[in-house]
Amino acid sequence: MNHRDATPTSQPIEEIDHFLTWCWAALGWEVASDESGVSWLRVPEPLRVDLGGCEAIPVSATASANTPSWMDILQVLGKLDRAAHAAPASQPTSVHQLTPRLFDAYTVEAGRVMLGGGTLEDLPLLRATGLVRSEESGEPLRLVHRFSTIEGQTVEPKLLASLHLDDLAPLRRPPRLPPGDLPTWLATARMHLPAAAPDERIEPLVVTIVWCKYFRCKLTFEIGDARAELPFSSWAQWLIDGDASPPPFRCRHTDRESFHVVRTDDGLITVPEATAICEQTGRRVLETSLATCELTGRRVLRDLLAACPISGQQVLASELVTCAMCGQPVSPKSMAGQQCHACRALRNVRRDDPRMAIVFGSHPKLEQWSRWRLSETATVYILRGSSFFRQLLVVVDRESLDPLRLAESTFLSRRWSPIAPELWHESLG
Ligand SMILES: [Zn+2]
Repeated sequence: MNHRDATPTSQPIEEIDHFLTWCWAALGWEVASDESGVSWLRVPEPLRVDLGGCEAIPVSATASANTPSWMDILQVLGKLDRAAHAAPASQPTSVHQLTPRLFDAYTVEAGRVMLGGGTLEDLPLLRATGLVRSEESGEPLRLVHRFSTIEGQTVEPKLLASLHLDDLAPLRRPPRLPPGDLPTWLATARMHLPAAAPDERIEPLVVTIVWCKYFRCKLTFEIGDARAELPFSSWAQWLIDGDASPPPFRCRHTDRESFHVVRTDDGLITVPEATAICEQTGRRVLETSLATCELTGRRVLRDLLAACPISGQQVLASELVTCAMCGQPVSPKSMAGQQCHACRALRNVRRDDPRMAIVFGSHPKLEQWSRWRLSETATVYILRGSSFFRQLLVVVDRESLDPLRLAESTFLSRRWSPIAPELWHESLG
């Protein structure tokens, strides 16, 4: 069983010896030392038949003349329906190794960034190892490795390098595989081997499942009583090496992004670029919640604006003035003296005008007035009824026809005297 005489140069032997030693650990085979200090590999029971009934092999498989050689072991490995398990030797194994790199990326004004849940998931890649033999002599030339995903896609060299897959440590307690998946994975991995050395003779050896850590988390930004979350995921190794960086915080109200995170005065977490100061209240708010007052030109909270019912302009509600005649708040630009433009634009209206018919329908007593003038704004009808001696002013809501103001005057006084609401029914019916 000894192939020492057929041994080629020492280079492949060292490489293969090294690989075998690695395999024993990755397959979980037991190694023990005897009294004389020689290490022995215990051959698992089902494989002894293939190794001539041998129970143990010296760890330096090339050293003994009477035991199976590395060549025999390699052949056995090629038939194994088992996989070795390994992980990149340098990859991070705990979330704590990653958090400083995450947190340092952000500046949180008057608050902090925390990990709102983070997991390190083991994602499998497959490595098939094969032995290339000389076409002529059949002598072993070298080992080749080929990586693929479990779906059978080739792993790009750039990804191999970035995950440090050139230095794999045996994994004694690998994640559990879904039942029945292993045979498929082994076949998938071995399918890729021929491409590792085209036109050469390759014997499949062992397949290694390489478990790479993938990090998923939610970053939680907390400022006062406000919180916001940002999901992030990456290969853990990428985060350590700087190949991946945490993303900028994205404001969900404005979609603007930054590594600088702030809270508005109304309790929203966002980025400074998305905020502005309301010129009326001095509050720091989302820029999108501001609008321009068309009277003063100031940028203010949209809620502080009201539409002038005459001009339609958006004006600070606090800037509206009340018309002395109809009592409606309007923009100063819609006023002339003490009266609004609508009150100054009262026009004669026929009793059968549809608008009058609607108003009479709700307030039948108004029909006793013989002459009417009418004006309207976006929200109200302003009506003035006349008889020989008196005038009645009625302001009603255009939608509900609810009365908003009643006043009367005589031709002598010409001044409008408000009628108390409790007396309105006498005039309206
Ligand atoms: Zn008016």
